Amino acid sequence: MNWEYVQPVRIIFGNGQIKKLTSEIAKLNGSNGLLVTTAGFVRRGMAARILQLSGGTIKQVYSAVSPNPTVEECDNCSSILRDNQCDFVVALGGGSVIDCAKAAATFGLTSCAATDFLGTGKAIPQQHLPIIAMPTTSGTASEVTCVSVLSDHNRGIKSPMNSYGFYPTVAIVDPELTLTVPPHLTATTGFDVLCHAIEAYWSVNHQPVCSTLAVHAAHLALTNLRQAYKHGDDLAARENMAEASVTAGLAFTLPKTTSAHACSYPLTNLLGIAHGEACAMTITHFIRFNANHGCERVVQLAHKLGYEDAEALANAIDGMREDTGMLLDLKSFHLDNTQLEQLIQGSKHPNLRNNPVPVSEQDLREMYESMI
Ligand SMILES: [Zn+2]
Repeated sequence: MNWEYVQPVRIIFGNGQIKKLTSEIAKLNGSNGLLVTTAGFVRRGMAARILQLSGGTIKQVYSAVSPNPTVEECDNCSSILRDNQCDFVVALGGGSVIDCAKAAATFGLTSCAATDFLGTGKAIPQQHLPIIAMPTTSGTASEVTCVSVLSDHNRGIKSPMNSYGFYPTVAIVDPELTLTVPPHLTATTGFDVLCHAIEAYWSVNHQPVCSTLAVHAAHLALTNLRQAYKHGDDLAARENMAEASVTAGLAFTLPKTTSAHACSYPLTNLLGIAHGEACAMTITHFIRFNANHGCERVVQLAHKLGYEDAEALANAIDGMREDTGMLLDLKSFHLDNTQLEQLIQGSKHPNLRNNPVPVSEQDLREMYESMI
């Protein structure tokens, strides 16, 4: 087996580590930064705290990033970087904020718009501004990946873009920042972590370093998500979920995600289901599907996580979905045939080909028909 491993992001992990922002900006010789965040962090005073920690080096704030960042938001961010000749970017927020900041840190050095690259296959320029990523949810792990997912409502697409230049320079992962995440968001982002780990493990591109990280992350998510959901102030559970998120991120960046993520994109685009919840909608289906089609890695993963077989792992995850109020089927959407067809076609995303067992259109149809 031939494989490569690279991980270019320096990771600073721990409670209270947000204070390292000051020295990290100094290391970059940053003097004219942009903070990318959400209106909520501005309102709650967190943006002001970041500006204070930056010692006056952050001179611009962009706080209009939505939960599924759009190409327009990314372009607005790029314009601020371009017009003010910024020299570094700090992203404070969940995956949406960090994804938007990462793409803008590259496009801001060009005259290009995000639509030039999203879904076009055009090569993304490698030059980019340094990024300090500070995640406030345990979910996408965008702080350690080279992926940026943007939505283009005009073309009806939500799609990931990959570029080596999207890797942040440094990730400051401070679990204390996740203490105030409300229960539903804790659950949706937590299932994203779990899916990253499981899909990384069984991806056709799996390799031993990432697989080891995937098992570690899946174990942490399976044993801490319920507690973080029920008792948001449990710092140990939050710390474990933050560790799960980062290690799952490292686990899937190279092997890439597979079937559950491929199906999540149309579930989010067409029905507005949050990313992690959308991934959780099909993960147990694919655990059973892969196991029933002879995929040994899913059985191996179940054993490594302490389950008798893949079915037991799927049942455990279904139990967790129920306990955390996740959607269990699509009945409430009353989908018509056109919508069903759109879901099926939208799920034929390139990541579907990373599933260890080929998934046909008929397989997708049967799965969605069992959910409506
Ligand atoms: Zn994800």
